[in-house]
Amino acid sequence: MSAHPPKLVLCVIDAMAPEMLQRAAESGAAPMLAQLMARGRYIPDCVSAFPSVTPVCAASIVTGATQEEHLIPGMNWYSRAESRYIEYGSSLRAAQRFGIARQLTDTVYNMNRAHLSPDTPTVFESLDDTGVRTAGTTYLMYRGRYRHEPQRDTPLTRFAASTLARHPVMGPRELFYADMFASRPTGCRSTLGMPGARDRHSGCVSSYLVEHDLFDFLLLSLPDNDWHSHRRGPEAQLISIAAADQQLARVMQAAGGIDEFLADHAIIVMADHSQALVTDTIDLQGELADLGVLQPSGGSAILGVLAGLGLTGAGRSGVEDGEEVAETAGHAHETARRATRVMDAEPRIAVCPSQRAAMVYALGPETRDAMRASVVTRATAIEGVDLIAWLARDAHDTPSEGVLCSPTRGELRFAPRDSPRTGEEARGGASPRTGKGGGELCDARGRVWHVDGALSALDAHIDSHGVLQTPSYPDALGRVWAALTCPTSGEVLLSAAPGYEFIDWGGAAHVGGGSHGSLHVSDSLAPLVLCGVDEPPERASNPSSGSPPAQWSIADVAPLVRSHFGLSSP
Ligand SMILES: [Zn+2]
Repeated sequence: MSAHPPKLVLCVIDAMAPEMLQRAAESGAAPMLAQLMARGRYIPDCVSAFPSVTPVCAASIVTGATQEEHLIPGMNWYSRAESRYIEYGSSLRAAQRFGIARQLTDTVYNMNRAHLSPDTPTVFESLDDTGVRTAGTTYLMYRGRYRHEPQRDTPLTRFAASTLARHPVMGPRELFYADMFASRPTGCRSTLGMPGARDRHSGCVSSYLVEHDLFDFLLLSLPDNDWHSHRRGPEAQLISIAAADQQLARVMQAAGGIDEFLADHAIIVMADHSQALVTDTIDLQGELADLGVLQPSGGSAILGVLAGLGLTGAGRSGVEDGEEVAETAGHAHETARRATRVMDAEPRIAVCPSQRAAMVYALGPETRDAMRASVVTRATAIEGVDLIAWLARDAHDTPSEGVLCSPTRGELRFAPRDSPRTGEEARGGASPRTGKGGGELCDARGRVWHVDGALSALDAHIDSHGVLQTPSYPDALGRVWAALTCPTSGEVLLSAAPGYEFIDWGGAAHVGGGSHGSLHVSDSLAPLVLCGVDEPPERASNPSSGSPPAQWSIADVAPLVRSHFGLSSP
């Protein structure tokens, strides 16, 4: 490692699908990305988190941890500590159900300050601690070591700063977050974080930072692709990837062009997840209504005004997935009607849709196991539910194994080899068997699992190296285990079948457009382009199996960033 590594830009293009990136590059619609793919290394199958939604993924990207450590479990989740729902902006209507002020506070402030574990440092924090000059454009995860006061430079930002965005935040050295935070004047306006105009703000700010040599590490977030793909469908990404490419060109032009830019910058381009077409919806709140579903509380008239002004996380302030969504006609009312029937009953479960994934929480600890069984039984019969997962516990309440159930393809039980369940007994080494059976299996990321039951539940097979392959559900066991053992996750996790999306608490879904969240391959793969970044030697081969190099995960990027600057990951 040289004393002065090149500056590094981490560019996250939200929801960019590998296939669409390839088509955009090949067709000439994305010339900058095409050049970076040609000059660097292109990895088409970097695996997302599960649920494959932006808050969970963003936390993994910036920390390098998965959610059992970073603790951000979904787009919508239930806080057992506070006995309430947390909503990060599934849709404007969902935000209104929970209260715009609460949603804004949770998304802008609490996600970084209270929800993201203090034990998983972000790359900003790691680099700030060693004096590397950090910078970030509007991104859900921004936690760093520098204090930033809310902007008060226009009547609107003064209004926001006196009502909602009152508090300072801790971010990277240079932080530009919609119109709320700006560490210096750049002349760039975020137009209230309007969807479709966010990439321009990121490009404007970033080109200013390049031109004035203001960073060593920059997180350049280009979120509009996700918004566009939600509305118009994944095929339409050709247009929004081209638009993102224009912003990349603008940033590189600030250095004099791509050659001059690459002379003293390394760049990583990636997505957090992909998107799949939505044709149908699942009304989980309605389906489970008679179990006693906790209803959202909140909603405040004065804050509706701010929503209209675009000063909320949902809709206008640069927050992923808070956009106008295709309304599912009548669903909100139907859900409300069904819910009304049980409003008087004591709520016994919390239902948390995260687009194409969902979680259900049992509210009473004493009835947890019985309630989990009831939810699983019902979920098995709901059209569009592809996989159901839950955690089995031993007599001491210690997690013993995960259970993955397909309503049509059987049930698979699994646990990592290092978990209590698999101690001496599993190390005895039953040989892996195909079909039904038990034994130890290494997966495509080199992790060893004790597996028992039907591999067909995951459309899985064992390859010629003896490695468990789950092409329909990439890194299935690792991702589901992280979700199941995350202390803030629900008791039951659901993944939607291709084409289906869970209706959010505002009654909205993206029918006719795209969405994501599931364990299925269609949402779960992201492109990763490494240009000027050294790969760690351990990626050259998979030490556990002697098979090809381990599959990449979005959680592998933070360690790459740290090692670029000579730091090891915590
Ligand atoms: Zn999205």
